[in-house]
Amino acid sequence: MKTIGILGGMSAASTALYCEALNRGARERLGGLHSAELLIRSLDFAVVERMQEEGDWAAAGHLLSREARALEAGGAELLILATNTMHKLADQMMAGVAIPFLHIADATAAAIRTAGLSKPGLMATAYTMEQTFYTDRLRAAGLTPMLPGPEDRAETHRIIYDELCRDVIRDESRAAYEGIAMRLAKRGADCLILGCTEVGLLLNAGNVPVPVFDTVGIHCDAVLDMALAGKAARIA
Ligand code: GLU
Repeated sequence: MKTIGILGGMSAASTALYCEALNRGARERLGGLHSAELLIRSLDFAVVERMQEEGDWAAAGHLLSREARALEAGGAELLILATNTMHKLADQMMAGVAIPFLHIADATAAAIRTAGLSKPGLMATAYTMEQTFYTDRLRAAGLTPMLPGPEDRAETHRIIYDELCRDVIRDESRAAYEGIAMRLAKRGADCLILGCTEVGLLLNAGNVPVPVFDTVGIHCDAVLDMALAGKAARIA
């Protein structure tokens, strides 16, 4: 199994979900006592969030690039960035890094197309929903993403930063998210992308009326495919 480098901490709440999903996935695929070979760099999210808030994407790009190179030097053979938003900087991050990188939007788009769906609602940070780096990538893969309305986008973003990234899970926020997902479905979304790696803390296939594509699970499954390419399943 190849060693998966995870650039995470954005936020720490979702990096924990990545670890759990990757270890569970490795055990399900290989059986016995297997777990994933991981090299994790978890950043201080307060530092990253300040750069986002100040629009200092150049500094954030330098930070991600430095840490990606450190993961490669430390022995990572594949790289993932455990946040949707920071994929805005994926090209800068990977400049000068030779190991393969799995883009979260590409993995998600592939899963949606495989399911025969094409019009995903997108619930994510304002950066991911309102800038073009993510939706353009989905469009390039043949999808037609749909965004929540302005108030629903603001509420989705607020709950991510004020609550989910701080490990705060509230019933009222779950209900608000269910309402936003319902409105997207009523407007014609044929599925929903949980396009922020913390949104799965509130939404899942059980409380959304259309098929759900959680970027954490999809990203982990796809990178495990890469890490195990050529390996027989259940070698125990
Ligand atoms: N984890 C979130 C995402 O997937 C938001 C935190 C961040 O800005 O990185 O976009």
